Amino acid sequence: MADVFSKDKRSEIMAKIRGKDTKIEMVVRKWIFAHGFRYRKNDKRFPGTPDIVLPKYKTVIFINGCFWHGHEHCKLSHMPKSNVEYWEHKISRNIENDIKNQEDIKMMGWNFIIVWECQLKENTEEVLENLIEKIEENKGHKSSRL
Ligand SMILES: [Zn+2]
Repeated sequence: MADVFSKDKRSEIMAKIRGKDTKIEMVVRKWIFAHGFRYRKNDKRFPGTPDIVLPKYKTVIFINGCFWHGHEHCKLSHMPKSNVEYWEHKISRNIENDIKNQEDIKMMGWNFIIVWECQLKENTEEVLENLIEKIEENKGHKSSRL
């Protein structure tokens, strides 16, 4: 995929994005903003209050912490050693809610994209590039990013 940024500009953006204490939501928001996408955040009018809403693309993005959302087969989502029953119950409720919210969003005729914490941390650049592609697919045609 062609890159709209020069090498220097890209390094600058990636450096900002990789900031030590940056929350994963911020990483994604900065990235899509830098690519010219405009969004609403934490929009409560949508099921599950998506982290990012892109009205132009009829797309919402959930940025999921692996533990809270019970990411399967994920090293970040292992159960704490105490209060196991409490956490198992809580996390399985979260998973059920996620599935319900995603179904509701589809019923509304919108698309949803899920970004997992572990994937974002391990393959930041790849995950973010794919995200832009997925958003643009939802527009129905490949548009220029400029
Ligand atoms: Zn994970």
